[in-house]
Amino acid sequence: MQKNVSPRVHAGHHLPEITGISLDVLERKLREFGQSAYRMRQIMNWIYHKHVHAFDDMSNLSKNLRTTLSGNFALGRLEQVACVKAEKGDAAKFGFELRDGAGIIESVLLYDDRRRTACISSQLGCNLGCVFCETGRLGLLRNLTQGEILGQLLAMNEYLEKRGDKSITNVVFMGMGEALANFRHFRNAVDYLMHPDAFNLGGRRITVSTAGVVPSIERLMREKLNVNLAISLNTYSNELRDRLMPINKKYPIEQLIEVSHRYFEHTGRRVTFEYVLIKGENDSDAAAAALKKHLAGLTCKVNVIPLNNCDYSSEKTPAKADVVRFVKKLHSFDIGATIRTTRGNDIFGACGQLGHLLLHKKSAAYQNI
Ligand code: SF4
Repeated sequence: MQKNVSPRVHAGHHLPEITGISLDVLERKLREFGQSAYRMRQIMNWIYHKHVHAFDDMSNLSKNLRTTLSGNFALGRLEQVACVKAEKGDAAKFGFELRDGAGIIESVLLYDDRRRTACISSQLGCNLGCVFCETGRLGLLRNLTQGEILGQLLAMNEYLEKRGDKSITNVVFMGMGEALANFRHFRNAVDYLMHPDAFNLGGRRITVSTAGVVPSIERLMREKLNVNLAISLNTYSNELRDRLMPINKKYPIEQLIEVSHRYFEHTGRRVTFEYVLIKGENDSDAAAAALKKHLAGLTCKVNVIPLNNCDYSSEKTPAKADVVRFVKKLHSFDIGATIRTTRGNDIFGACGQLGHLLLHKKSAAYQNI
């Protein structure tokens, strides 16, 4: 439910968020307070499993420790200002206001039989300027902190818990922003995603999507994060990619393919290439054939995403038959390809649509929350 949409600075926002410090720093801080590793587990349990909103609610900690914690940290919960559910019930979009009043970030919860997938944001806006993306139109306002990245998951887990549902099973960094351009906070958040006392998710349940920041993909390998990698490729030629995704001028397709080979060798995880299908631009048989040449010999998968309605183009959304034809063509070249089911289109929660709350505060979607 929408509570209040006006940005404001929250009380106590000068204190660092306890969810915003790395695991190492948390451990060190607690040692400085004379606390054991066991206490750290208790505190994490209160934050990540019992979803408390105040240190004072951590009833198995001494009064002294609770006072110390509240004097040194904020709990780092995000304020939910919007929650809207897709008509089919297979997606829900959330808007969260940042504590410093910098803006509203969006996250999407996707439901299927077994999975509860959280699509989360890593930046407020984005400066990579992909022409089909609403978030890109905002420019980069700022990076999200580790606490703001984790705060989205905490809020969605609490939402699921209140409905007697299971917790988040998968996390995809495909919301607002380019996670690999905010590497340190992304990386430290992943430590919590994997930690048994926090979100306890294995690397195969975490996917980071990138527009193709090659040095950060190399850093992923160096730091052995071992998460799934999705590269937003979207086209078959540098000429077209330069136009759709300006980052291509710095890291062209050949570099992306080369680093993908290395990523597979390094991690054993096949890379997913996201391919937003745009009518009349990248959906021809010739495009599929060119794609085949690029991907020859690479263990990978292509995820075809029909362009969603956005300001870039209502006429460029491909017809269903054309999407199927394109995927069949890829199959005929022995390329593993799937069609991403579009969920959340009606709540502006589908691919390329996040940032809508910030761009169009007076839109119908916002009012209907
Ligand atoms: S698609 Fe991703 S990288 Fe490109 S502008 Fe949007 S958020 Fe940024």
